Amino acid sequence: MSKEGMECSFCGRKKEETNLLIAGVDAHICDSCVSQAHGILSEEIIEEIETGKNSDLEVKKPKEIKEFLDQYIIGQDQTKKTMAVAVYNHYKRLTQPDTLEEEVEIEKSNMILVGDTGTGKTLIAKTIAKMLNVPFSIVDATVLTQAGYVGEDVESILSRLLQAADYDVESAERGIVFIDEIDKIARKGDNPSITRDVSGEGVQQALLKLLEGTVVNVAPKGGRKHPDQKFVEVNTKDILFIAGGAFAGIQRVISNRLNRQAVGFGASLSEDNIDEKNLLQYIIPTDLKNFGLIPEIIGRLPVLSYMTPLDKKALRAILTQPKNSLIKQYTKLFEMDGIEFTVNDEALEYIVEKAIEYKLGARGLRSLCEAIFTDAMFEMPSSDSTSFEVTKDYAENKLSKTMMKQLKSAS
Ligand code: ADP
Repeated sequence: MSKEGMECSFCGRKKEETNLLIAGVDAHICDSCVSQAHGILSEEIIEEIETGKNSDLEVKKPKEIKEFLDQYIIGQDQTKKTMAVAVYNHYKRLTQPDTLEEEVEIEKSNMILVGDTGTGKTLIAKTIAKMLNVPFSIVDATVLTQAGYVGEDVESILSRLLQAADYDVESAERGIVFIDEIDKIARKGDNPSITRDVSGEGVQQALLKLLEGTVVNVAPKGGRKHPDQKFVEVNTKDILFIAGGAFAGIQRVISNRLNRQAVGFGASLSEDNIDEKNLLQYIIPTDLKNFGLIPEIIGRLPVLSYMTPLDKKALRAILTQPKNSLIKQYTKLFEMDGIEFTVNDEALEYIVEKAIEYKLGARGLRSLCEAIFTDAMFEMPSSDSTSFEVTKDYAENKLSKTMMKQLKSAS
């Protein structure tokens, strides 16, 4: 074909009539056809995402999920494993075509994590959401009340998730919600209050439907402060709920049960088989019921796991090992000012000892680090220093007794 005769193979425009004519093997395409094609393509992609045809949710295998969690969370192996399987199953369920769901309906894998505060319950839930790239929100069960009472309606849980999803309903509908302090809405044992149970069983009842899957009218901005706002329908059937709580005193419930069993079954559960120091590992759903959670709630949080208390070794590892560990973060911050930052072994040991001595837990590590490094972070960027080695003496110096008292009262 002569140069003059060249035309767009799509729209037939002559070369002269186009801004640009791109040559292919046996054909040409003009600039306006390229941009039109691009438009069609973009629309298709958006539609696919909207209809979920091309779900961008890439579900990793349980082992890969655990490996991902390992990068951020120290210890808690049992929970990481249980979590990996629950999350795998939950999101596998989401990618099932509707027809299959009718044959074998796979139930939700909502979870409940039992363990002391600061052992990583929130962190695990948050890390899972990060891995899956799904919206994540945290709610405190203690602020929830039955509709009509002072406090937040149970639906407010979804307003937060919707906010986290930038008001993209579809994305919120497959997000993760962490319900903290679920133990605080337990029925208060044999001592029922004469006043209405505003924050206890009523809230549990209200939560039931949400956990199981229902369509809820959600006020996007939350609360009743914006009465004019339009409601958005959110279906909770694919939202993964992870509840967490310290369940203070549940060890006694477990221990009582184990002892009763020991009497009944003899040697199989004799006392020397039981690790009295970490009774949580024997937790079963019945213990949650005896603690005061209603059976229906327990049934809707079918995956149960426990957190191990963090010992000295774990705290030390938390300081340095996770991908975004505190020490790695400070190193990076100093590096940005051209300062080589190191903390020697004795200093690390010292920080951990103080966290244990003052019962500050993993959360306290951050406050301790702040207290020790803040002066340097204030002074050094304006100095000529190129290195900063933190020794035990330096750390001790910065952590005066009064400072420790402040940290303790803030924790
Ligand atoms: P919880 O929800 O059990 O009260 P968090 O997940 O909020 O505890 O933990 C508080 C902080 O302590 C986390 O942000 C994290 O920095 C640290 N932390 C706690 N447990 C671990 C762990 N197992 N591995 C790594 N960091 C942890």
